[in-house]
Amino acid sequence: MSGNPAVVMRLVASAYTVAEKAGAIVRKVLHSGELGIVEKTRANDLQTLADRLAQQSICASLSRCFPKITIIGEEELPEEEIREDLIENGHSEEILQKTCPAEYSGLKEEELVVWVDPLDGTKEYTEGLLDNVTVLIGIAYGGKAIAGVINQPFYNYQLGAGADLGRTMWGMLGLGAFGFQLQEVPGDKRIVTTTRSHSNKLVTDCVDAMEPHEVVRVGGAGNKIIQLVEGKASAYVFASPGCKKWDTCAPEAILQAVGGKLTDMHGNAYCYNANVKHMNSAGILATLRNHEYYISRVPQSVLQALKSE
Ligand code: AMP
Ligand code: MG
Ligand code: MG
Repeated sequence: MSGNPAVVMRLVASAYTVAEKAGAIVRKVLHSGELGIVEKTRANDLQTLADRLAQQSICASLSRCFPKITIIGEEELPEEEIREDLIENGHSEEILQKTCPAEYSGLKEEELVVWVDPLDGTKEYTEGLLDNVTVLIGIAYGGKAIAGVINQPFYNYQLGAGADLGRTMWGMLGLGAFGFQLQEVPGDKRIVTTTRSHSNKLVTDCVDAMEPHEVVRVGGAGNKIIQLVEGKASAYVFASPGCKKWDTCAPEAILQAVGGKLTDMHGNAYCYNANVKHMNSAGILATLRNHEYYISRVPQSVLQALKSE
C-alpha cells in the first residue's frame, strides 16, 4: 500500500515489533536468573520482573506513537518514567504494505482500545515450561477484537543452544492470520485443551462433558489458541472465571481471522470496550470449527454457575 497507511494498520505494524521487543525482555529476565516473583492475589496468580518490564515497554512504546489510544495492561504498576532502552520505535514494514480492510480504514486513534498481557503464562514461565509463554497485544474497535499480535518468546527452545528463539503471529479480521501454518485436528477427533494450573470441579466436569478423545493441559490463553490453529487441539474449554480481557483479545482476533470463534460457555461474545469489566466471568470456549457442537454439550450446572455478562 502506498501513501498514507490506515491508523489501525500502523498500530498493528508497531504492535508486531513492540511484541518482539517484549519477547526479548522476557527472555533476558529469564537468563538473568533474577525473576523478581511477586504473588498478586494468591500463589497461582504471579507477577515477575519480566511481566513488569514487558508491560512498561509495550505501553510506553505504543502510547508514544499513538497518544490518543486507550491502552489497558494487566499489571498495576506505579506511574514512573520509563527507561529509554525499553522503548521500541520500529514497525513491521510487511504489515504496513497490506491493504487495510475497507471497514477499518477510517478508524481513528481514539476509537481503538489495546488490551495488553505482557506475559501470559507467568506460572509456567517460573516453572520452566517456556513454550507456554506468550506476549499478547489485542486491538478492539466497537467492542470487538479486530486484530491481534502473539509473540512466543521461547518458540524452538527445545532445540537447545544455538536455536533461533521466538516467533510472532498476527491477524486481523478481513485479512487473515500470519506467522504460522494453519492446521486442523483431523476428522471428528475431539482434542480438548484446558488449564493446567487453575482447574476446579466445574472446569473438569465441563471438559468431561465434551467426551474428548484426548485432553491437553497446558498453560496460557495465548498458548491454547496456538494449539487450536496449529492442529493440536479442537476446543479450548475453561468453565470458570479467571481469564481476563487481555488474555483473550489478541487470541480471539487471530482465531476469528482464520474462521474460528471464542465465546463464553453460553456461546455469547465478550465485549472489549474500554469500560468493560476485566474478568471473563462466564468462562472460555474457543474452537476453530464446530463451535455449536461444543456449546451444545456444556452441562446445565456450568450454565447455571456462570452467567453471561
Ligand atoms: P491458564 O489456562 O490457567 O494458563 O490461564 C489462562 C490465563 O488466565 C492466564 O493468564 C491466567 O493467569 C489467567 N487465569 C485463569 N484462571 C485464573 C485464576 N483462577 N486466577 C488468576 N488468573 C487466572
Ligand atoms: Mg494471561
Ligand atoms: Mg500476564
